[in-house]
Amino acid sequence: MPISHYALGLDLGGTAIKAAVVSDSGEVLEQIQQETPGSRAVGDVVAAIVDVVNRAVKTWSDIVGIGLGSPGLVDKKRRMIRSSPNFPTWVNVPLSGLISSRIERPIRLENDVNCFALGEYRWGAGRGFDPMLALAVGTGIGGGIILNGELYRGDSGAAGELGHISVDFNGPKCPCGGYGCVERYLGNRWFVEYARTALKDESIASPKDVSDLAEKGNKKALEFIQRQGEILGAACASLINIFDPQAIVIGGGTAQCGEPFFRSIRDSVKSRAYPELSQKVNILPAQLGILAGAMGAAAIGFEARRNK
Ligand SMILES: [Zn+2]
Repeated sequence: MPISHYALGLDLGGTAIKAAVVSDSGEVLEQIQQETPGSRAVGDVVAAIVDVVNRAVKTWSDIVGIGLGSPGLVDKKRRMIRSSPNFPTWVNVPLSGLISSRIERPIRLENDVNCFALGEYRWGAGRGFDPMLALAVGTGIGGGIILNGELYRGDSGAAGELGHISVDFNGPKCPCGGYGCVERYLGNRWFVEYARTALKDESIASPKDVSDLAEKGNKKALEFIQRQGEILGAACASLINIFDPQAIVIGGGTAQCGEPFFRSIRDSVKSRAYPELSQKVNILPAQLGILAGAMGAAAIGFEARRNK
């Protein structure tokens, strides 16, 4: 069966640029990975991205559009990175313009977690669910909102900061300025910090370490993971009461804490959110793994072509 067309999705991270050539049915035809230049200077990063695009276009000349997912705040018109935690010196960088002048395909910029959400909605665990929310639980907690088949971006383009739902208004101060944000408990660094205290084990370096201990029968580790699930479930309950979603898809490193973690999230949701909403909502682990961001960016690439 002939494939009608492809898009290229790029996922710009602090250490690597991951790219995927994706068909309109979600088939990944090629993956390309390149190191993010160590200087993290705009010119060097732009050159590396252009290089990846040229390599992809050389093989797949039918690429119709390119989506670029980047961490940080993307402006409403999706042309500029206003600020980014991975590229601290970047302020109001017109990234898509800098790249598009050097390539021959339309390109569109998007926040990386929005790309993750769109990827899971189009081709992953969130397929067929609308409204759908996505949470990426890693260094921080990023979020994406799908409404009526599209990303909801808000007034300034920054909607979806779901990690900063407060689960305790008197809780610890969060770098965002708020108190008791769910990210402040489940973001990698804090997850590890709380786990070390709870388990009295300074060797814990990641959520996966705690999950491994729980699997080996460590009761305190299991209780800790259940507690973390309960906290994330409290945030999900608020989201469910606001959005009445059909599904919440949860990915990122912490989501690998497995079934005990997900069971606690679901129990916590059921004991907190409106019963009519909490009983029917699907809380699902993400499916696309490490390629979700690049695949979602490719979905943006198809949009770039339509709106060029
Ligand atoms: Zn916060």
